[in-house]
Amino acid sequence: MSTLLPMMTAYEKEHISERQPLPERYLSLPDDELDRRIAAAKAKLGGRLVILGHHYQRDEVIKFADYTGDSFKLARQVSRHPDAEFIVFCGVHFMAESADVLSAPYQQVILPDLAAGCSMADMAEPEQLEMCWSDLEQMGIIPTGARLQPNGRSSVVPVTYINSAASIKAFCGERGGVVCTSSNAAATLRWAWERGERVLFLPDQHLGRNTAYKLGVPLDDMVVWDPNEIWGGLEPDAVSRARIILWKGHCSVHTRFTVRQIENLRAQHPGLRVIVHPEVPWEVVQAADDSGSTEYIINTISKSPVGSIWAVGTEIHLVNRLANQMHPDRTVLSLDQFGCLCSTMFRVSPNHLLWTLEGLVEGEVRNRIVVPDERKYWTKVALDRMLTIQ
Ligand code: SF4
Repeated sequence: MSTLLPMMTAYEKEHISERQPLPERYLSLPDDELDRRIAAAKAKLGGRLVILGHHYQRDEVIKFADYTGDSFKLARQVSRHPDAEFIVFCGVHFMAESADVLSAPYQQVILPDLAAGCSMADMAEPEQLEMCWSDLEQMGIIPTGARLQPNGRSSVVPVTYINSAASIKAFCGERGGVVCTSSNAAATLRWAWERGERVLFLPDQHLGRNTAYKLGVPLDDMVVWDPNEIWGGLEPDAVSRARIILWKGHCSVHTRFTVRQIENLRAQHPGLRVIVHPEVPWEVVQAADDSGSTEYIINTISKSPVGSIWAVGTEIHLVNRLANQMHPDRTVLSLDQFGCLCSTMFRVSPNHLLWTLEGLVEGEVRNRIVVPDERKYWTKVALDRMLTIQ
């Protein structure tokens, strides 16, 4: 009996039927042939193509990216390339969806492997969010049918991390909310509290908690909404007192980092500095020296003195790149000695990249990501708001 099906995420279940198996002739190609053919296809496509690569991609793929960055930086690149007919996004599905929404109608966005989803994004389903909103109305937190209070403020401003499906982003956009990334999460929370009494933050409870705490919100003013419980598992009084309602979602990669790992490495390396991504649990951020987005981590280590020793709590491909390519003159270690790999990002292989690029050369668009028109408008509203907040 197959053990694969029970392990599939909601995203995989939805998209597995659309996923074409990689043709036999693209399997088992030697590395030098992959490199040569990817470079040749890229050269043939010239300015018609732009390749965007997320920091967590493997080296064999990211070396072909025209631009690398975190979700925020890559989303900005989309509108800067109006001449590119094809945007190949070496990342995961929600990133390609955002690129499709932000691109011009004549541009086509391609995800080299449709199975590259995100377990965190899967933790917020549109039906669960609809139910949450209706529960908040029943609890008297949101006035039924009204979007604004008499004072012109919202009762709840929904903020979704970019690591979510387009339907979730559209829901937030339509209700006066916004998308954020880990680069602008603090500015986004300030933006939201200027417009409403409390924030519903989804899908990552850790990014929400860590960011709000850094802004001075005590843990007692936060509640966790469990989408699998009636009324989120909360009493109306608790919700009405909260400044932020945190959706019970998390990143399966970043929640592997622990305080014990920090203590062990500090004992082994005197002078060690620890920097972590804000998707890690709150107590890990407290035990670290610093926290921030992948761009922030890269900049902080770049500015540190030669010879400094760092332990980094984020995905292993970025940590290895920092250690071996960007800063071999500093010691950069993974906080987790076994390394934390984003297995869905890893699905984008050079073989998939080659298959999609050679398809474009032959005039065939493979693995195009299209957000349905009915979701596009409000998704774009939410993403455009995101791009104005820094
Ligand atoms: S690292 Fe975590 S949040 Fe990022 S794509 Fe992978 S599973 Fe999703």
